[in-house]
Amino acid sequence: MNLEIKDVDKRYYKEYLEDFLPKNIIDIHTHIYIKEITETADIQDKRLVSWTSLVAEDNPIEDLIETYKLMFPGKNVTPCVFPWVEPLHKIDELNEYTRTLAVARHLPVLFLDCPTYSMEELEEKLVNGKYNGVKVYLSFAPSYIPGNEVRIFDFLPHSHLAVLNKLGLMVMLHIPRPGRLKDPVNLAQILEIEQQYPNVKVVLAHVGRAYCQEDIGEAFKILEKTDNLVFDCSANTNAAVFRQALESLGSHRMIFGSDLPITRMRMRRVCENGIYINLVPSGLYGDVSLDKNMRELEGEEGDKLSFFLYEEIKAMKEAINDLGLGKADVEDIFYNNAKRIFESTGFSISKSGD
Ligand SMILES: [Zn+2]
Repeated sequence: MNLEIKDVDKRYYKEYLEDFLPKNIIDIHTHIYIKEITETADIQDKRLVSWTSLVAEDNPIEDLIETYKLMFPGKNVTPCVFPWVEPLHKIDELNEYTRTLAVARHLPVLFLDCPTYSMEELEEKLVNGKYNGVKVYLSFAPSYIPGNEVRIFDFLPHSHLAVLNKLGLMVMLHIPRPGRLKDPVNLAQILEIEQQYPNVKVVLAHVGRAYCQEDIGEAFKILEKTDNLVFDCSANTNAAVFRQALESLGSHRMIFGSDLPITRMRMRRVCENGIYINLVPSGLYGDVSLDKNMRELEGEEGDKLSFFLYEEIKAMKEAINDLGLGKADVEDIFYNNAKRIFESTGFSISKSGD
């Protein structure tokens, strides 16, 4: 694994994160996969963002564990693991790699779910595999639907929600559509899931992809009325978004997630006119000149950049401090909330970390 911890990273961790983070942490959002399975460049789905693959070519479980040791010295991190989301034709191998290692290491694990499975097939896979829930993804929607028009129910069908509701399991949901969290179709379908399937533990990844304030709209006002829905803060570095989410739904409804390995990236994120831009060291992630979400910083400015994941946690710290929340809230966000969800799916986390 190519992960160098520089002085700038050590200083960052000491100054902002070490004392803030609790000793025991649950990371609800990680992808593990090996390139022997994922390497099929010819079928890259054009609807996926391109820079993600430049940060890590794969993330075997050993690398994930090593990443925590290097990035969070002195902490004990338990990940919930699921596969990378492509290629679809290797979904069985992706799932089997992840499940086998999760069982061996006693980790919570999500099944990468394809909407074409029948209810019987899905239930059998979830029960036999002792999964805690599913990871669904927009690129599994039928290929005739243009990327911008995909709706949640196109890749998370009602039949699958019924199975999850019956089993009381979790779904990790990365919402579609360019309007992101504020999108009225997304919001209507999120509310419909909440009302029709009260036993499903819905986790909205990346705070519903609200990376900039402009992505929020009326969302928190609408979602405030829900009882079950929770957010994970993975791959989001916007303190103002975190603050509004915490204000509306409270610290019981926010969960720490990393989205490793992509948050091993060196970057700092800014928003300009409602669009997020990842500022990265010049040359480190190939030619990014055509990507509207990427911009290079030259020389010393680039050298100052630390990890995406550190930026995420620092933003959460800012939001927590701004709201005058305390240690108990931090414990909830980084440990207790996830523990409660996994326990409700029949899985107990052991604090010893083994
Ligand atoms: Zn992810």
